[in-house]
Amino acid sequence: MTSADILAVAAHRDDVEQTCGGTLLRMAEHGHRTAILDLTQGEMGTRGSVEERAREAEDAARILKVSWRRALDIPDGRVENTWENRLKIARVIRELRPRVLIIPYWAGRHPDHYTTSTLAYEACFLAGLAKLGKNVSPESREGASAVSDLPPHRPFKIIYASLYFDVRPTFVVDITDQFESRFQSLMAYRSQYSDQEPGSGLFVPNAEIRKRVETMAAFYGMLAGVQYAEPFIQKEVGLVDDVTSLAVQSI
Ligand SMILES: [Zn+2]
Repeated sequence: MTSADILAVAAHRDDVEQTCGGTLLRMAEHGHRTAILDLTQGEMGTRGSVEERAREAEDAARILKVSWRRALDIPDGRVENTWENRLKIARVIRELRPRVLIIPYWAGRHPDHYTTSTLAYEACFLAGLAKLGKNVSPESREGASAVSDLPPHRPFKIIYASLYFDVRPTFVVDITDQFESRFQSLMAYRSQYSDQEPGSGLFVPNAEIRKRVETMAAFYGMLAGVQYAEPFIQKEVGLVDDVTSLAVQSI
């Protein structure tokens, strides 16, 4: 049976590569099994077909040393928090039994991103219900049978990847050593990021993307005194055993 220590859930293929790809790679290098669930297949993208994007997502996963990656069939641009969609994600959570779930921050510009946040959170809740699909009304049982075959599971920790929203992170992960590979994983989406005719104006040239990605990572790195980092939010407080081992210099 497949399992994962860390599962990142995102709306679109190439979201994870922009928000927490460095962290996933770092965790894989520490010996953890990592997984990515993309909710949509990218059929609304201006460039590239769904098949191309699937291949590119596989390439990106390989670069990030991700053990497992799958895309659901939720319509691109129409990620909705429905019972059916919650069940689809709950099934994956029960299949992989991750300890940590990384989901998008709950506010943002793109509705798919912030909807994914609530949708995935509620799917975690569902995934932990022992009686899901049993002893319930026929309407709520509908579609739940595939999920009820698997034992209940809830991730221990939910953290929010906050790169898409201007909010102060509660912690950052040092990705200085992973930065290059993380950038390469984004560039694996050749149909999206290969340089186009100069002056077409529709897509940003690669040098510009590189500059943006580097600036963001350097900004979050600076907050913690490292070169590059990725920002996260946790809703809970941090628990400290030994204050002498607290990271990040104050003065
Ligand atoms: Zn996206």
